[in-house]
Amino acid sequence: MDTFFAGKYDVIVIGAGHAGCEAALAAARLNKKTLMLTINLDSIAMMPCNPSIGGTGKGHLVREIDALGGEMGINIDKTFIQSKMLNVGKGPAVHSLRAQADKSKYHLEMKKVIENTPLLDVKQAEVKELIIENNMAKGVITSIGSIYHGKTVVLATGTYLGGKIFIGSAVFSSGPNGLAPSMLLTENLTQNNIPMRRFKTGTPARVNCRTLNYDKMERQDGDKKIVPFSFLNDSLNIEQVPCWLTYTNLKTHEIITDNFHRSALFSGEIEGTGPRYCPSIEDKINRFHDKDRHQLFIEPEGLDTNEMYVQGMSTSMPEDVQISFMQSIPGLENVEIMRPAYAIEYDCIDPTQLKLSLEFKDIENLFSAGQFNGSSGYEEAAAQGLIAGINAAQKINNADPFVLDRSEAYIGVLIDDLVTKGTDEPYRMMTSRSEYRLILRQDNADLRLTEKSYKIGLATQERFDRVSQKIVLMEKEMDRMNNTLIKAKTINPFLVSIGSSELRDSVTITNLLKRPEIFYDQIEEFDTSRPSLREDIWKQCEISIKYEGYIKKQLKQVEKFKSLETKRISEVDFYDVDGLRLEAKQKLNDIQPTSIGQASRISGVSPADISVLLVYLDYKRRTKKNES
Ligand SMILES: Cc1cc2nc3c(=O)[nH]c(=O)nc-3n(C[C@H](O)[C@H](O)[C@H](O)COP(=O)(O)OP(=O)(O)OC[C@H]3O[C@@H](n4cnc5c(N)ncnc54)[C@H](O)[C@@H]3O)c2cc1C
Repeated sequence: MDTFFAGKYDVIVIGAGHAGCEAALAAARLNKKTLMLTINLDSIAMMPCNPSIGGTGKGHLVREIDALGGEMGINIDKTFIQSKMLNVGKGPAVHSLRAQADKSKYHLEMKKVIENTPLLDVKQAEVKELIIENNMAKGVITSIGSIYHGKTVVLATGTYLGGKIFIGSAVFSSGPNGLAPSMLLTENLTQNNIPMRRFKTGTPARVNCRTLNYDKMERQDGDKKIVPFSFLNDSLNIEQVPCWLTYTNLKTHEIITDNFHRSALFSGEIEGTGPRYCPSIEDKINRFHDKDRHQLFIEPEGLDTNEMYVQGMSTSMPEDVQISFMQSIPGLENVEIMRPAYAIEYDCIDPTQLKLSLEFKDIENLFSAGQFNGSSGYEEAAAQGLIAGINAAQKINNADPFVLDRSEAYIGVLIDDLVTKGTDEPYRMMTSRSEYRLILRQDNADLRLTEKSYKIGLATQERFDRVSQKIVLMEKEMDRMNNTLIKAKTINPFLVSIGSSELRDSVTITNLLKRPEIFYDQIEEFDTSRPSLREDIWKQCEISIKYEGYIKKQLKQVEKFKSLETKRISEVDFYDVDGLRLEAKQKLNDIQPTSIGQASRISGVSPADISVLLVYLDYKRRTKKNES
């Protein structure tokens, strides 16, 4: 094949999925000449699975991406068709925003942003090999012979590498949605000593809304008051579309059980490991056979299409079985499938070969993000893409890597879990993965992260000014509420009316809000000196008052965590450390932790091993001091 030199860049991003888009935009916005390559320009920011952004834990990631100056939050605010804050019946730590997206508008809007970003070129090409010299990434070669040189390269190939589709006994090479797979790069990565493995995921059928009977389903509407994903948007208002709720039944389960043998999942055709938290319907019926029904959400894929997504029904059953079990469900009796459900198997890596900056430990200037790193989900991919893009730029600037730790962000939890603990299945973010979820709420991501990103030049001046002003207004309001008294006789009738105990003396607003049954927006008429504040500002004040004790306790835990994170480890051959168990030596050598904190999270490294390590590091420090 003829080759030719096609161009020179600072950052080359392989992939234009959710990871690739954030990586390329971050690098270009940090003034790096960036090239983004994708097998198909029509798949930029494509949503091959659920037509939604956010949800429990995932909504937190999107708000953090936005606070850091990423694009996903802004893009969904432009293209959503329904929005809901989940878990509002529970505490603010698990409140999670979720928005239904118009998939094709989401793609078009992101493509527009990408195409109009200075210093960013986007091209349609399949990368067949990396240029690696002396364990350093130098560029890429495409399947049509174009050679691009790059100071850094970011791999974000998603579910395309070695893509194989399973629909019953029908098995064929393909990327998602019938797009071309990437069949050449895996071999080159393996030759460059990048061990690969197979994961799988699945998606449900898309059905035609004309063939649905909504009278037999429960309508699910969005929130009246919409909370934007982006901290740059104060409010949003659109005419929302509904989703629909229905359930499988024993007839559905019988059809599926009778055809277990025809599912690619159970016939052993599929080798790849699938996501435990997004199981296929046959997996659910097999695992939870005591349940007599499973809920299904019928979600619109967009305003200009009849396609409806059947959430909860991913499967690798043959199409005829898909039709018969679908038609056993209330509201789907006459359903027409537009796109059959399928499972996809693809190549990805074990992320423990990466540093916390998402750079490969053994190949310098090579970074990776997204599904390729063993995660699953648009939001997880975008979060990693942003960090990989930032760090590709930081590397070129010889600046310190931009790393968020577990106490600062869900993005920190995500990346630390992947590179320190690894994952044996597609990793999905959940609030339960964070030990500091009361302070890592989706509502305060800007307060936690924007300044950090502003300092490296990514978050814009506008973002920084908004957060700075918000902090000033929050402090002023906290101060006012700490010093403003409400007379007992003024508010007692209201307190009695809501079953709250009467006051004997005047009380500060702060102390009043400490009562769990009293809320800021309820007592406006009694709080005559109240300034008009945006909801996101007074909500911060209210949460810090109501959860003061818990937040203080968690901040104490964070202090302890930070003390271990700041105990740095560098240039240690763990096989030299006497007293460490063999398993610990092996694991520590593989992961190469950069701190005692990270070392303590490696599975197979015990607290006793950590004590031995602490003594060893202390001894090394003192010896060095004596020698100097
Ligand atoms: C069938 C299916 C079901 C899914 N189910 C779920 C689910 O239930 N829950 C969930 O959370 N997530 C699910 N996902 C995952 C979700 O879609 C992905 O997590 C997300 O899209 C990953 O984003 P990414 O940027 O890593 O990769 P992708 O969005 O897959 O994008 C990869 C990009 O890389 C490009 N590319 C690949 N190889 C090359 C190459 N050699 N040269 C140039 N370009 C290349 C592609 O063209 C594409 O632009 C599913 C995905 C699929 C396909």
